[in-house]
Amino acid sequence: MIYDVLILGAGPAGLAAAIYAGRNNQSVLLIEKGQDGGQISLTADLENYPGQMLEGESGMSLSMRMAQQAKNFGVKRALDSIVEARLSGDVKELVGRSDTYRGRTVIIASGANHRPLGIPSEPKLIGHGISYCATCDAGFFRGLNVYVAGGGDSAIQEAIFLTRFARKVTVVHRRDALRAVPALQEQAFANEKLDFMWDSVIDDAGGDGKLQWLSVRNVKTGETTKIEAPAEDGFMGLFVFLGIVPSTDMFADVLTLKDGYIVTDEQMHTNLSGVFAAGDIRHKSLRQVVTAAADGAIAAMEAYHYLNH
Ligand code: NAP
Repeated sequence: MIYDVLILGAGPAGLAAAIYAGRNNQSVLLIEKGQDGGQISLTADLENYPGQMLEGESGMSLSMRMAQQAKNFGVKRALDSIVEARLSGDVKELVGRSDTYRGRTVIIASGANHRPLGIPSEPKLIGHGISYCATCDAGFFRGLNVYVAGGGDSAIQEAIFLTRFARKVTVVHRRDALRAVPALQEQAFANEKLDFMWDSVIDDAGGDGKLQWLSVRNVKTGETTKIEAPAEDGFMGLFVFLGIVPSTDMFADVLTLKDGYIVTDEQMHTNLSGVFAAGDIRHKSLRQVVTAAADGAIAAMEAYHYLNH
């Protein structure tokens, strides 16, 4: 089958595109390799999506409703990991591990992945003290000391969330000022369980099968401090929020990229006709749920116009 619209990625951008394309009565296939929602599926509190004031609303519950909405408009789903994209012809092909999918247009909304800390012990400590998802793992650190790497919106929002569980949360940031928006900074500075290590980076981490120590270097003085879990705890947490890296390797040969992100015009058109990009994978200034959803809606309407003209 050749679909009118193939959408890659079921985060807010892909889901919004699916809702709009489905509502346009087009045949739509939404392809996702894992969980719906993308990065917001890892977020407990969403306080800046317009109209989002529901008690207990999480990124997961919002994306589940978006997915249901897309389904109501007849959008088909495929659970597959795409490994190759053939985008140049009139019929585009996305080659997955399980199947090959064909469409007259493609909307790439496959987002970005977290940036790792990059220390050698990181891979083996994931799930043993190092985490990239406070919503998923905060409960394991109840009453313990927790460290958060980064100074952006994610780091500060999740650090505040972690204070509900941890004894103390210390943000380790490489500069002496946060990147996070002022509202989050205010909340963070007013939180008595939150502490900061400025001008500092984590150079190493280790322990006996679980995270028990961190080596933190002050980038201004060069001084290195070894931080150890209190003996009675025997364990500590490190949550890493160092920003995102777009998943664009597969498109590098055919699509124009800037800083690794896909370049589009304001109508979400890439350099290839019939190929659109939306959400965090796109080169742009503001990466939020609301801008991802807007990108998705625009991309779907542009795909509709492309097919009808
Ligand atoms: P981000 O804004 O890119 O921040 C990354 C942070 O990690 C920065 O503080 C950066 O330091 C630091 N960093 C990067 N590489 C590092 C390294 N190698 N070593 C040490 N520190 C490093 O990423 P984010 O916080 O994940 O946010 C991503 C996007 O999602 C942003 O557009 C953000 O606004 C958005 N977002 C919004 C919300 C919300 O509105 N509630 C929540 C989460 C995310 P520097 O500051 O020195 O560069």
